[in-house]
Amino acid sequence: MRKSHFDYIICGGGASGLLLAFRICNDPFFKNKSILLIEKEHEKLNDRTWCFWESKEGDLEEIIHKSWNQSFFASKDFHLDFNLSPYKYKMIRSLDFYKFIQQHFRKFNQLTQVKDEVIKIESNKVTTLASEYNTDFIFSSILDPKKLLQQKKYPVLQQHFIGQIIETKNNCFDPDRIEFMNFDIPQKGNTRFMYVLPLSKNKALLEYTLFSEDLLARQEYVDEITAFAKDLPTGGFKVVEEEQGNIPMTCFRFDLSNTENILHIGTAGGWTKPSTGYTFQRINSKTKFLVEFLKSTRPLKQFGRKNRFWFYDLLFLDVLHEDNANGADLFKRMFQKNSPEVIFKFLDEKSNYWQEFQIMRSFNVGQFVKALFRRIF
Ligand SMILES: Cc1cc2nc3c(=O)[nH]c(=O)nc-3n(C[C@H](O)[C@H](O)[C@H](O)COP(=O)(O)OP(=O)(O)OC[C@H]3O[C@@H](n4cnc5c(N)ncnc54)[C@H](O)[C@@H]3O)c2cc1C
Repeated sequence: MRKSHFDYIICGGGASGLLLAFRICNDPFFKNKSILLIEKEHEKLNDRTWCFWESKEGDLEEIIHKSWNQSFFASKDFHLDFNLSPYKYKMIRSLDFYKFIQQHFRKFNQLTQVKDEVIKIESNKVTTLASEYNTDFIFSSILDPKKLLQQKKYPVLQQHFIGQIIETKNNCFDPDRIEFMNFDIPQKGNTRFMYVLPLSKNKALLEYTLFSEDLLARQEYVDEITAFAKDLPTGGFKVVEEEQGNIPMTCFRFDLSNTENILHIGTAGGWTKPSTGYTFQRINSKTKFLVEFLKSTRPLKQFGRKNRFWFYDLLFLDVLHEDNANGADLFKRMFQKNSPEVIFKFLDEKSNYWQEFQIMRSFNVGQFVKALFRRIF
């Protein structure tokens, strides 16, 4: 008879579901626990490139596709070349990640994977198109966009982009230096930047990215990438791969739908950094914390409560939502007046109060005070 009770059920086998299953199975504490992972897609493709910064080697080191030590920031009237030390900026290609995780899964006989679509999650039960499963704990990375869009309390911007890997005739990229954010392009009333990750001297991922409310027509992203590439001494180029994404940037309280035994994880759990859209490294570290947390048998809704950085992000998004053309100036001020090391620490939520005060001082304080008053009153 098919088993229908599991100690843990993980709904959604993307970045957060897979990493959580991997970390639970890897920890001998859980060797007698049964885990079910439900993913609706039959095959996970090379559908995204994940980048993040890290100062030490992590346990995904063997699938790092490329890493960089040098970076570049630009706005219309400010350009900065900088060394990323003590960090490295790292890239993982999603197919390498899926393969790596699946290879490890073969060793874990406490894990069952099924291809099925989750249609309902209740307190101790998950219903799929084909079955029903009972469990003690549920982790869900299935995002319900309705919840986000039906509320007005927290603005919802999106980090949306199309990225194209281009191969050029001439060597025109510095393979050691990324363009982290290049705002020196027409802003057209929004926050728009080009993000460039060189894979070699003649191959790079160019991503045309916006932090704004509404998506563009596909052609607009493509035209901007083409225009940017045409300004480089490429000698001609061809597009070899493409990816697209839109990642919610919001301080919406995803955590409020967590219960004693249901926890939302990944983007669906609010693990995306609201002010930047970066998610991968937060999934990486939060799944580690979560595995330790599970050993304590505390109710899941106590996991990862909001902190002061949530409040900084809230004001930042309020300001950006109020005037969407503001982003280039906000990021310029941050890079003009603070060291990149402190900025990355701040974005990692590991800075101290003094460093945060210095960062706040870099901005036009009036805009933030106004946003604060709007929130209070
Ligand atoms: C193209 C792209 C590039 C990105 N690049 C970066 C980056 O460079 N750095 C960074 O930090 N973040 C990046 N992100 C953001 C973030 O890291 C990713 O979106 C990441 O995949 C989020 O992980 P997740 O587990 O929350 O969601 P997902 O990885 O999307 O996983 C959710 C899973 O749930 C499955 N699912 C959905 N509904 C059901 C259902 N009803 N039943 C069963 N399964 C279901 C989906 O098929 C999917 O596999 C990127 C996102 C995209 C789209």
